[in-house]
Amino acid sequence: MNIINQKTGWIEVICGSMFSGKTEELIRRIRRAEYAKQEVMVFKPNIDNRFDKDNIVSHSQMRAASVSIAQASDIYAYLKPDTKIIAIDEAQFFDESIVGICNDLADQGYRVIVAGLDQDFRGEPFGSMPQLLAIAEYVTKNLAICMVCGNPANRTQRTVKQDEQILVGSTESYEARCRNCHEVYQ
Ligand SMILES: [Zn+2]
Repeated sequence: MNIINQKTGWIEVICGSMFSGKTEELIRRIRRAEYAKQEVMVFKPNIDNRFDKDNIVSHSQMRAASVSIAQASDIYAYLKPDTKIIAIDEAQFFDESIVGICNDLADQGYRVIVAGLDQDFRGEPFGSMPQLLAIAEYVTKNLAICMVCGNPANRTQRTVKQDEQILVGSTESYEARCRNCHEVYQ
């Protein structure tokens, strides 16, 4: 991380496929801020209550206390006077207003850390992640390991036949896949 002046906000995006360690990386950054006694507020969409309503939880069972919100504008109501950092997990599930809100928060001086899936199960850009990637100061793109061949994997394979873009709740319905092994059933 480069040195940035105090009082300047910015946006960091952590993206990648499922099983690429996005939430682990987000929690790692949250922990480091907490060690430095910086106040962090963590948010996630209330659509994603698969493990725990009041925490973000990585596949490796790391967790951090979070607030479940319906839309990104709800963030403002939870900010405290000493909040320095705003962390958002599963950002792909929020509507497009999240882009302007992240910009506004960074303009106000907050460090905004956003984690999310950059591609849906078809390999298409997911939700507002492309816009968030474009406006971010820092981008971390994590790769998983293809569960078929072992190559670096940037796609998420749905292993059940369902067509909706959003199918939360069951990590068993997904695998990390590389470009070669990723399939979209028609
Ligand atoms: Zn593969």
